[in-house]
Amino acid sequence: MPDFAYQLQLSNKRRTVQLLIRNGAVIVRAPKSICRQWLQSWLQQKQDWVYKTLAVQPEAAPICWLTRPTVLLGGKALAYQWSLAKKSGLARTEQAVTLYLAERISKKRYPFYLQKLWREYLTTEAEQVFGQLVTDYAAKMQLQPKAIIIGDWRSRWGYCKQSGELGFNCRLMQAPLWVARYVVVHELAHLRHMNHSAAFWQLVQAFEPDYQAAKAWLNKHQHELLA
Ligand SMILES: [Zn+2]
Repeated sequence: MPDFAYQLQLSNKRRTVQLLIRNGAVIVRAPKSICRQWLQSWLQQKQDWVYKTLAVQPEAAPICWLTRPTVLLGGKALAYQWSLAKKSGLARTEQAVTLYLAERISKKRYPFYLQKLWREYLTTEAEQVFGQLVTDYAAKMQLQPKAIIIGDWRSRWGYCKQSGELGFNCRLMQAPLWVARYVVVHELAHLRHMNHSAAFWQLVQAFEPDYQAAKAWLNKHQHELLA
């Protein structure tokens, strides 16, 4: 089953299936009589294409690390600034994030290092937050993941392997906590159902009743988070 959200448009007149991406939304057009199971497995095969295409969609506005006014953290826009310092680092309050760049860094590398500092911060946060969420929800759901990987991907929020390894995207730290929690419940639920069957979604819903809202949030903000 595909791991991306899509809009399904069924029609009596249609004879073939069409998959398209418009303004960052995935749209599937299919005959009304289509076998849902066939459609699910077909879409699964298209997953890589969808992620690749979504990743290269034009962004609303390219992010400039030298001038951007805010950064997104926990679903909130925090005031952002940066300055030169003896050592690179990051300071954060409830309302603001300041990045410090070591003076020795050459000017043209500033944007690269600012982004790098931010990603490193997200990764450190993600290790802690996902570690705790997985511990909590694995106990609640009575599931036993074997390992947790934190990654920085442009194409997926998380994954679950047959081996029991779960992966989570550090960029989810930019989303509200309840959205990250949904991804944890989603990937944990795959330890029981390696598909997106009705039984799978029932399990997700039992532990994350608001999962539809979380999916919608991710769809709406994916360009911002995966840029
Ligand atoms: Zn899934």
